[in-house]
Amino acid sequence: MYGFISRGVAGMTLAILSIHALPAFAENEPESMLQQRNAEFEPRVIEVAPDTYTAVGFGVSTTSMIVGEDGIIIIDTQIDELAANAVLTEFRKITDAPVKGIILTHGHGDHTGGVDVFAAAGEDVQIWARQGFNQESQALAEAGLTIQNQRGARQGGFLLDPEQRINNGVAKVYFPQRGEKSFSAGTEPTHTVYGERQHIKIAGVSLEVVAANGETYDEQYIWHEKEGVLFAGDNFYKSWPNLYAIRGTPYRDVLAWINSLSSMLEKNPKRLVGGHTRPILGQQQTIETLTNYRDAIQSVFEQTTDGMNRGLTPDELVETVKLPEEYAQLDYLREYYGNIEWGVRAIFSGYLGWFDGNPTNLFPLSNVEEARRIAALAGGSDILMQQAQDALPNDPQWTAQLCDYLLALDYEVNRVKRLKADALDELGNQLLTATGRNYYFTVAKQLRQSTNHSQEVSP
Ligand SMILES: [Zn+2]
Repeated sequence: MYGFISRGVAGMTLAILSIHALPAFAENEPESMLQQRNAEFEPRVIEVAPDTYTAVGFGVSTTSMIVGEDGIIIIDTQIDELAANAVLTEFRKITDAPVKGIILTHGHGDHTGGVDVFAAAGEDVQIWARQGFNQESQALAEAGLTIQNQRGARQGGFLLDPEQRINNGVAKVYFPQRGEKSFSAGTEPTHTVYGERQHIKIAGVSLEVVAANGETYDEQYIWHEKEGVLFAGDNFYKSWPNLYAIRGTPYRDVLAWINSLSSMLEKNPKRLVGGHTRPILGQQQTIETLTNYRDAIQSVFEQTTDGMNRGLTPDELVETVKLPEEYAQLDYLREYYGNIEWGVRAIFSGYLGWFDGNPTNLFPLSNVEEARRIAALAGGSDILMQQAQDALPNDPQWTAQLCDYLLALDYEVNRVKRLKADALDELGNQLLTATGRNYYFTVAKQLRQSTNHSQEVSP
């Protein structure tokens, strides 16, 4: 196996041991880059501005507190009650004022799962969310779709052993404790923000809540003008943004995301609190970061649409679209969480759908037919298998693709599954993007398990 022991959050001792045991992985740059990120996720309450605090590293997302005249305002509520309680305990060391209002930046469960805890820390607590709140998961539910949960668990690494995970790119390793609860909040919002923007006053604090379509259609940012603090929700965190989540999401409107970042910049904020990772403090730093973030996304978007207009297919686009060097070297734009190639593919399918434009692909051969013909060309399935094995050390992607042919042909299924699992582990080790690593490692584990129990897995 591939030295998963070195991936513990337990610390350096294990890492050093495994480096000696497995020298090949001592130089595994993605792994050490992710390890270095863990400092970003240490539990802290950061005083962002006077009477304004942000908790990071307790669960997977940030929760902020603004202390007002006769109570506090909470922005986002963690992924589950355990993390919410941990944050509330810390906030209670600062003030025991009651919660007067909760504002949710968007409907994703990693920001809404602890809403009950904060709602119980006050009376008649106003819970604000944007019009269309949580429509993304409602649409999936209405369609009767559940597969995104399975894929989400793979992406999140929830089925992996803790030592197989480093972090999620923008959050520490965390296993949500939601029991039977779904990803959505237990307590529903009591107040809705309609239209482009709304000014609200809670506990004597004036806030502007602004629609900010981007990661989700129900996204909004909160502008605390008096202190120059902008709460960006998930339209900003320190990583290349997840323009597409591999668990499967509807199109995230990338152009709207760019415009939302421009709208944030118009506020000239002095402090920036993202939905994940530690806040950015200082006006110059904030403006520079937000500008680069927007311009980097815009560059990828424009390169993609230019290529689309030239008739390039998604497979061709990912070969040509590159993040310009000036952005690629910025740590907060590295592909820790989102991945540029996946974003490019999402922009294509978001506008043009599944058809890549090449008529060969209007009615392609079935997987089995293609596999049969490739095997015949190669001189038989045994040769395909040999090629798949030989490719493993240097070309695990080819191994995985050949394994898919062999699986389509029902060729020595358990042996092929184990080989594919080895290839996926190798691909995971080579990838920086934590969501992809988790997905590779999880499917590898499931493939091995299915050879033990003869379960079916269809990755
Ligand atoms: Zn989030």
